[in-house]
Amino acid sequence: MHSYRNLVAGVDTRIPLDNGSYTTGINFDNAATTPPFLSVINEVDSFIPWYSSVHRGKGYKSVVSTNLYEEGRNTIKDFVKADRDNDTVVYTKNTTEAINILACILSQQKNGRDVVLSTWMEHAANDLPWRDKFTVDYIETDDYGRLSMNNLEDKLKKYKDKVRLVTVTGASNVTGYLNDINTIAELAHRHGAEIHVDGAQLVPHLPVEMKPYRTASYIDYMSFSAHKMYAPYGSGALIGPKSAFEKGLPYCQGGSAISLVTHNKIWWEEPPHKDEAGTPNLLGIAAMLSAIKALTSLGMDNIFNHEAALLQYAYEKMKSIPGITFYSHPEIQETIGVIPFNVEGVHHSLMSAILSYEAGIAVRNGFFCAHPYCERLLGYSAQDMEDMMKDPNSIFPGIVRASFGIYNGFYEIDRFIACLNQIVLNKKYYVDKYGNARGRYYIK
Ligand code: PMP
Repeated sequence: MHSYRNLVAGVDTRIPLDNGSYTTGINFDNAATTPPFLSVINEVDSFIPWYSSVHRGKGYKSVVSTNLYEEGRNTIKDFVKADRDNDTVVYTKNTTEAINILACILSQQKNGRDVVLSTWMEHAANDLPWRDKFTVDYIETDDYGRLSMNNLEDKLKKYKDKVRLVTVTGASNVTGYLNDINTIAELAHRHGAEIHVDGAQLVPHLPVEMKPYRTASYIDYMSFSAHKMYAPYGSGALIGPKSAFEKGLPYCQGGSAISLVTHNKIWWEEPPHKDEAGTPNLLGIAAMLSAIKALTSLGMDNIFNHEAALLQYAYEKMKSIPGITFYSHPEIQETIGVIPFNVEGVHHSLMSAILSYEAGIAVRNGFFCAHPYCERLLGYSAQDMEDMMKDPNSIFPGIVRASFGIYNGFYEIDRFIACLNQIVLNKKYYVDKYGNARGRYYIK
């Protein structure tokens, strides 16, 4: 089996353990943030002596910087198969900012449609920005946490010609479920609505086609973050039809976004500049473009296949851990390499603390910024959660999430499973009133 381990920085970092020893860390928290590709570090490093102001100078370095910045938009369009001529790319700091910009823009062009259909499985980034600007309704999930296509159709019919946008994640950051975005797009378009896909968990893991040739299943808008695709923090993108960005006032206002300002009038720049006020994070953008190059040359199909093999391997082995509950079901719906689980009698926060402090294995636990989805998966109502918030002695429920990246290996999963088994065997611990794990040396 091919190993991709040496593609990224930090795989051999020695992690200190509670017992005073050190171990080579294992990172199964890639859904939160991925480590950078070494090629990204090298490319950004060699660009540092060359960077200068973007769109603010005629100096040689300024021209080099501006060219990288402008030409990068086509790299991004090609990566997600957007329309080179009619789409535009707005650079953002992350997915959250991209969706806030989109919500601001579309709220100024409702065209008589004031409903946004979101879903029960969204990250807060693709839920909250819509709430104060539109009437928001949520497409249901079923008992397995999968999106209900029937409910989507029902809601599109219920609101008739009032739906402005269907906004849905391409892949869930909790269950990893891949949504059928092209079918959702077709349905949305049939009802005169547009679609936005939160691509944060999608574009790092599989090929994406925003504009399939001459079909109604095209994606109008997409957003994503570079720090989940093997580039460091601080850059992301919002892609959509240029015409939509021409109207209204920008979300953030200032220099770069303007053609001319007098004391009483503003002439805004053309898109995408209108939505890029202020000096941009060019190094972050250079890193994102470099990561896209690396992902493309690895082949998005290869990436998907490797991560699917890791997922299958881990899932099969984890099934034999006593008392395990899975919150996603890769046998009934295709997923990215994410496994959400709990083990009976081991609080989620204790599980991730023991894995970290006693084995050097990084996972995440909690609600993953997708609170309503996790509450549902765990069987809690909104009222249950409100009651817990009011009770200072509540120990909050949650889920443990292992998420894989291209550089992870099967031997890391073997070690992870061995540790899980030891934790289950040595169940002697308590959780304090803040939900913090208290216990030591469960893993020998
Ligand atoms: N959407 C999804 C599905 C995510 O997983 C995340 C990050 N966890 C976000 C949006 C927000 O991304 P960022 O924090 O980079 O803005």
